Amino acid sequence: MRYNVAQLLKEGVGAFREREVSGDLYDIDENNPGPTHCEGQILLIRTPRGILAKGKVHLKLVQACRRCLELATHEVTIEVEEEFIPSVDVETGASLPITDEDEPELVINEYHILDLQEVLRQYAVVAVTSPSLCKPDCKGLCPHCGANLNYETCNCDTRRIDPRLAVLAKLLES
Ligand SMILES: [Zn+2]
Ligand SMILES: [Zn+2]
Repeated sequence: MRYNVAQLLKEGVGAFREREVSGDLYDIDENNPGPTHCEGQILLIRTPRGILAKGKVHLKLVQACRRCLELATHEVTIEVEEEFIPSVDVETGASLPITDEDEPELVINEYHILDLQEVLRQYAVVAVTSPSLCKPDCKGLCPHCGANLNYETCNCDTRRIDPRLAVLAKLLES
């Protein structure tokens, strides 16, 4: 997931390359320590200041179900769009100004290598926090005893209701 962009940096704004993305991510979160393999396609486009990386990357993330808390693996597509900036002028070799506002993972190094790995890891960290279900019809946990209702039925009275509503329930029953 490292690309030598020296030639592309010498070309005019709008020049581009299409590249395969294939590699492993690490340390996304506790459920995804890695290697987490990712595959995709990226377009590297010359911009006035640097190179825009734009594309889609597919990976499998382990996420806890928001109803039953069981871990399940999901296919996820990450849409990446980030501008990388060079740290060295490709023609003269002179250092270019990098400011505090420039994210270090978006800096193309002095060997003109654009490295997608940390950027993709950060996108994956965001993706892994989105709520997910282990399956669309997950029955979740019993709110009274905590039994996983996908595997067992418990003996809790699921009709048990808030005592403040009990009066109303009686009225509805009669
Ligand atoms: Zn579930
Ligand atoms: Zn129960």
